[in-house]
Amino acid sequence: MRIAGLEKFSTVDFPGSLAAVVFAAGCNYRCFYCHNRAILNCPPLLSEAEVFAFLEKRAGLLDGVVFSGGEPALQSDLPQWLARVRALGYRTKLDTNGSRPETLRALLNAELLDYVAMDYKAPLDCYPALCGADSAGVAESLMLLRNSRIPYELRTTLVPQLTEAKLRKMAAAVPADANWFLQLYRPQPGNEVHLRGLTPYTPGEIETLAETLRRVRPNVRAR
Ligand code: SF4
Repeated sequence: MRIAGLEKFSTVDFPGSLAAVVFAAGCNYRCFYCHNRAILNCPPLLSEAEVFAFLEKRAGLLDGVVFSGGEPALQSDLPQWLARVRALGYRTKLDTNGSRPETLRALLNAELLDYVAMDYKAPLDCYPALCGADSAGVAESLMLLRNSRIPYELRTTLVPQLTEAKLRKMAAAVPADANWFLQLYRPQPGNEVHLRGLTPYTPGEIETLAETLRRVRPNVRAR
């Protein structure tokens, strides 16, 4: 795996677990609002030996390991990493953009995941404009999570292009009982060209949108 970073302690990335977060380098999307832009093209910064030396030392002190990125599902040895982490006694979580359903299916079938957080970024036809890639695989990944036995959440960064009408369209594809988080968009330098004068939502506006969507999807929350 190409590792771009390691957060050694997090209370917020893995529900119910104190976790370390492993950041995989590289992503097949180019979301204009990406906060991890620096690791999309960077070379590996940490070796497997360095990461496992840390995880072996913390086994029993931390509960879980999150694989985030970038897009960790692009890394061919992700299953081996998950199995090794599990063997140390950790719970495992995958953060994914949902574009690799074949990998997600294999990991679910092998029971290597305890939790998945999947980005559901926009109505499927809006992915090229917002994410720089088409939405291939996203609908299938949603289906896999809906049919899986593990807990999962969906996450949408509320860029101002996502109007209420678009969110309603997205809601139709969200499994009825899914936890769906609407996240505050924080503008990045250079975003102006994509916003074209649109104003970012305030936390209050996101809460109002969540309340509206709860009429059709009860587990929508602002975050
Ligand atoms: S999918 Fe995630 S890591 Fe990849 S470009 Fe988009 S926000 Fe960044």
